[in-house]
Amino acid sequence: MNDTPEKLLHSLFGYEHFRGHQLDVIQHVIDGGDALVLMPTGGGKSICYQIPALLREGVGVVISPLIALMQDQVSSMQQLGVNAQALHSGIDWQLQNQIEQQALNGDLDLLYVSPERLMTASCMNLLRSCKVALFAIDEAHCVSQWGHDFRPEYLQLECLQQNFPDIPRMALTATADRPTQQEMVKRLGLNQAQQYISSFDRPNIRYRIMQKQKGKQQLLDFVQLQHQGNAGIVYCMSRKKVDETALWLVEQGVPALPYHAGLGSERRAQNQQRFLNEEGLVMVATIAFGMGIDKPNVRFVAHLDLPKSIESYYQETGRAGRDGLPADAWMVYGLQDVMWLRQRLEQTDMDAAIKRSEQSKLDAMLGLCEITHCRRQAILSYFNEASSNTCGNCDNCLEPVATFDGTEVARKALSCIFRSGQRYGVAHLIDILMGKPTDKIKAAGHDKISTFALGQEFDQKQWRSVYRQLLALGLVSSDPENYGGLRLLPPCRPLLKGEAELQLRLDRKVSIKAPTAAKARLQIADADMDLWQLLRELRMALAQDQKVPPYVIFSDSSLLEMLHAKPQSLLEMSHVHGVGEKKLDRYGDDFLALIQQHA
Ligand code: ADP
Ligand code: ZN
Repeated sequence: MNDTPEKLLHSLFGYEHFRGHQLDVIQHVIDGGDALVLMPTGGGKSICYQIPALLREGVGVVISPLIALMQDQVSSMQQLGVNAQALHSGIDWQLQNQIEQQALNGDLDLLYVSPERLMTASCMNLLRSCKVALFAIDEAHCVSQWGHDFRPEYLQLECLQQNFPDIPRMALTATADRPTQQEMVKRLGLNQAQQYISSFDRPNIRYRIMQKQKGKQQLLDFVQLQHQGNAGIVYCMSRKKVDETALWLVEQGVPALPYHAGLGSERRAQNQQRFLNEEGLVMVATIAFGMGIDKPNVRFVAHLDLPKSIESYYQETGRAGRDGLPADAWMVYGLQDVMWLRQRLEQTDMDAAIKRSEQSKLDAMLGLCEITHCRRQAILSYFNEASSNTCGNCDNCLEPVATFDGTEVARKALSCIFRSGQRYGVAHLIDILMGKPTDKIKAAGHDKISTFALGQEFDQKQWRSVYRQLLALGLVSSDPENYGGLRLLPPCRPLLKGEAELQLRLDRKVSIKAPTAAKARLQIADADMDLWQLLRELRMALAQDQKVPPYVIFSDSSLLEMLHAKPQSLLEMSHVHGVGEKKLDRYGDDFLALIQQHA
């Protein structure tokens, strides 16, 4: 073949330019080098191995941890006219024989395999007998024993180096934290590999973190006002809450499905399939729902409970907007979350060192919730990526937070804990501060202590906010042995002694009308809404015919560009982003006809 990477990008994929490191990676691998590729979700990792696989002689072997991921990629490649296949447990022996024969004949461009399949003697023999263009290890962070995606089979991939010393190996991942990156290099034998590390920023995702008041209702307002008809994921901590929330959303008219480990594998697979294949479904899930969600047009990820680290938060929110179009990461959190996570951590019997590390990860997460400056800057700096500019696309940038001198109220809140013996929960402490003569207060004699009725300048909600921030700042802790009673921690001393001051954030009133609806952010004019629906319906019909997810036919960005450009000829259609030769051939006329009819 005398194609070049650029030509393939245009003719096959229908894209104008390479992004970021793509072309460098591709050239390096075509020339036979190994590569470690770190790009954020949606950054375009697949092209980095797909193009060299097509341009080098032999079959490109892609190691992927999940059948769902493989199937998606195989369908997408087949749509482009590339001969791609997958070997996994869901493939019958007849098809398997066919695929193996194609590989031996040199007729296969890409072969997706699971790591356990790759390691079987028969697969190794097959690969020794045919020409291999490259090995691409996708989701390479699965080799890390500390991550939540650990797959023991990945550890065996080290042997590729010995068995196929002359074939380029690539490891690809979107994981942003350093220790995992180092572990990948070590465990996959990639010391010689060229490293391509991109910025992990996801500029199209808008981060919002708000105080939880009525979590479910806040979620409903958010979905109805901003994401009507859009696909999204809602993360909850427990299975019970997943079930309740999904049911409740359905009752409120939002199409939603539950997903958690308690559902049974068949039901889970079914719900996941529906989420991928249908448009506008909301998946309410525990973190069991995660890797393998390659749906590019997830428009929002919402958290009803606090994740346990910034790593988790970033990975989960990263599932929004893979297609690069505007998307939301939305979260509500409150006092209960802080107490609950802290207590759960204290009660586990983990190794002390691990516990401390988990503790500091949780503290960082809480810190992210309470900061008053740019959230994106804070997240990126957590991953050692300094950026001097604020982003203009997070809540703190869009609506700057008011702070106030909280020194005095914090002192009152702290001394109330101290005077009442460091064993009462927040509700009781607030009753004391507000001077409520409840039975419990009278019985304990707390109407006689000096902090009784000392805090009447605030209402209950404001005091809760103060205690939440004190907890998040690590000035007090809640005692799991004692029903969440609060205790003072050493760092609060300077404040109590009058040697330190404290700025607190003024909680926002929850505004529900202000945010812009998603369709406005996608820049769809009202006059175009009908055509937008029709384009999506046509895409869906084609997808159902072929039993593939709609985004395999065309991405949302391709449809949006058709909507905006309204191409009038096949030539004009061929300029639309993502319309390569094969897709122009297959679908050009249908979409053109629809656009012209509508004009
Ligand atoms: P990830 O890095 O998450 O694996 P993908 O490889 O799935 O990302 O790419 C994300 C999306 O961006 C896909 O729809 C892909 O076709 C598209 N894409 C990749 N490279 C380019 C490019 N150079 N120009 C335009 N779109 C691209
Ligand atoms: Zn910002």
